[in-house]
Amino acid sequence: MERKTVLVSGGAGYIGSHTAVELINAGYDVVIADNLSNSDISGVEGVRAITGVDVPFVNVDCCDKQAFAQLFEQYNFDSVIHFAAYKAVGESVADPMKYYRNNLLSFINVVDLMRQYGRHNIVFSSSATVYGEADTLPVTEATERKAATSAYGNTKQMCEDILRDASGAYEQINGIALRYFNPIGAHPSALIGELPRGVPQNLVPYITQTAAGVRECLSIFGDDYPTEDGSCLRDYIDIVDLAKAHLAAINRMTEGRCNAKYEVFNVGTGRAVSVFELVKTFEKVNNLKLNYKVAPRRQGDVVAVWADTALANKELGWQAERSLEDTLRSAWEWEKRVRNIK
Ligand code: NAD
Ligand code: UDP
Repeated sequence: MERKTVLVSGGAGYIGSHTAVELINAGYDVVIADNLSNSDISGVEGVRAITGVDVPFVNVDCCDKQAFAQLFEQYNFDSVIHFAAYKAVGESVADPMKYYRNNLLSFINVVDLMRQYGRHNIVFSSSATVYGEADTLPVTEATERKAATSAYGNTKQMCEDILRDASGAYEQINGIALRYFNPIGAHPSALIGELPRGVPQNLVPYITQTAAGVRECLSIFGDDYPTEDGSCLRDYIDIVDLAKAHLAAINRMTEGRCNAKYEVFNVGTGRAVSVFELVKTFEKVNNLKLNYKVAPRRQGDVVAVWADTALANKELGWQAERSLEDTLRSAWEWEKRVRNIK
């Protein structure tokens, strides 16, 4: 069988590096493109160490169309998974143009260059943030998208729309948007994981850094929400399971099994977990006590969102497998490795 190549833009980052590993393990050739604006080369080195494959890495800004085009000249991939984007919600509210410029321009370049070079399949990293505060739960792919409350969220909606329109208009282009819920954890090897810069914005890295003594105390944002224990509900998806959903999407496209030119899938577990439950599970499986306190609600948080995963289960033949316990163990193993804790 002829080997197929996949371009992984943003592949030095958290989700991209885990996805590169799953693609390579499944027999794909991978090219990683990243400008290392929110990562470093260790992500690529981790992929190489896990797979034993000397994965090509190109340091390029996807917003620089000319430089990005060089990569299309050099490598003959037919599919791209586009992870390259900024992702800090708060920063995007403070500096929206930074987000519109990077996230939109890089994606427009991907679509344009795929067309220009006669390539076909585009998988886009979308997010459950497009659902906002949903009227019914769990959310299905048909659940209405709510007006975005941040520039970050808006770029996700706009890129989904760009992909829908481009795949609808251009015979050659097929699109899949994967709406991720809350990715957490690390590769079981602990060779790759999440490397947030500065103070973590997300719950699990804040937890692991607190356990490691890097942060003094975790703040639980709100205990007076209308949920059983008063904290917010989310659908936490293991990073390796999430990576495997990308593999399933690429297989579907390269094997010509798509039902439509543009498809959308929820990538979650279907299970709602509260902040307190997550913290308690982390403590239990890692046999430690976490320093935490209840703090005021964080602006912009939705009360609850979790996925109906029926469509992804059926069409992608994929479902989340790793338990929350194993995932939270892997998150701590990774943090210990990063901090040199025995
Ligand atoms: P990440 O920051 O670890 O990875 C993104 C990578 O893209 C980084 O390595 C960064 O250096 C690179 N990058 C950014 N702009 C670039 C550009 N112009 N050119 C080249 N490289 C560029 O983030 P992640 O958590 O791996 O997220 C990957 C994608 O998934 C993003 O699009 C993000 O919005 C989306 N997403 C993430 C989450 C989450 O909770 N992590 C949830 C939903 C969606
Ligand atoms: N959260 C928290 N303390 C933190 C970070 C997050 O209590 O330091 C809560 C947050 O209010 C939300 C949940 O954890 O209810 C998940 O937040 P995260 O930022 O990880 O993901 P989001 O769902 O906002 O994308």
